[in-house]
Amino acid sequence: MKRFTSIIICISLTLTLCSCGRGLKRFEKSFMDVFDTASSIVAYDTDEKAFEAHFEELHELLVQYNNLYDIYNSYEGVTSIKDINEKAGLSPVKADERIIELLKFGKKAYEISDGAVNICLGSVLSIWHEYREEGKRLPDMNELKKAHEHADINDLVIDDDNSTVFFADSEMKLDVGAIAKGFAAQKASEYAKENFWSSALINLGGNVTTFGIKPGGAKWVVQIENPDKNSSEALATIPVVDKSVVTSGDYQRYYEVDGKRYCHIIDEKTLMPADRYSSVSVICNDSALADALSTALFILPYDEGKKIVNSLDGVEAVWVDKEYNIINDEL
Ligand code: AMP
Ligand code: MG
Repeated sequence: MKRFTSIIICISLTLTLCSCGRGLKRFEKSFMDVFDTASSIVAYDTDEKAFEAHFEELHELLVQYNNLYDIYNSYEGVTSIKDINEKAGLSPVKADERIIELLKFGKKAYEISDGAVNICLGSVLSIWHEYREEGKRLPDMNELKKAHEHADINDLVIDDDNSTVFFADSEMKLDVGAIAKGFAAQKASEYAKENFWSSALINLGGNVTTFGIKPGGAKWVVQIENPDKNSSEALATIPVVDKSVVTSGDYQRYYEVDGKRYCHIIDEKTLMPADRYSSVSVICNDSALADALSTALFILPYDEGKKIVNSLDGVEAVWVDKEYNIINDEL
């Protein structure tokens, strides 16, 4: 009887999966105009016209997040983080609630990461950015130390009720690069799920967010890029359901001086680029958290990072050393 019941359950589950997927087709579209990175969306929809309309809606949402979270550019009719950096040292600046939410998450990321991810490190990060763009020399340590006097996260004053941001230190600057893509990808994913799709994958430059299963019942499969550019094979292939996979790597943005690579992720303790791993990927059900954690784990010693991962429910990480070997043995 028990066996009979489970067969019936199996059959009805299969029928449900088939009927869910009936008529849904796979569509994919790439774009380059948000978060300064190559992005794509894959989704199952009824037909091309419906997909195009939904894609446009989602793309428009991502453009809005891009403009709000931009630290380098201003946009008409929008107060971006760049505008906040210019004005919030003088008096409180009215900010979109999506910025308030991101900055509050930034404070949380600082706590979770034991200070490894600090969105108020902008004055230091902008120096590294300048030298990286120039591509020839390393910044002077005294210059970095002086800038670092203006990076206390407690000087970021968020007034939730009035939706304003103020810097108690007028020389402080925000840099939300460690969390913005993941935060926006999470919002986009929630919007699409709520409004039109039951199964999709949103990839913002390697910050991958998925929800649902494919119409035939298969899981989304996310590849972890191989930091070894000479290898065409993915480092790992991970089937996921309702999960994000986010990677921080030393191959994503870097420059070289005297044959040594200096990447875009800066350890606040040394004020130098983090240099422990080739990459760290984080898998969990929240893309913003995955983004914050992947940057944090890329900076922290393995034991400290592992402790953070173990303290959080449903979070997994893959550390890859400089020789392109996966360090942790669970996978
Ligand atoms: P991700 O690629 O998500 O690991 O983020 C890297 C970006 O975060 C850099 O390009 C900087 O904009 C920013 N960043 C680098 N180091 C830090 C840090 N220690 N804390 C916060 N943001 C950082
Ligand atoms: Mg990150």
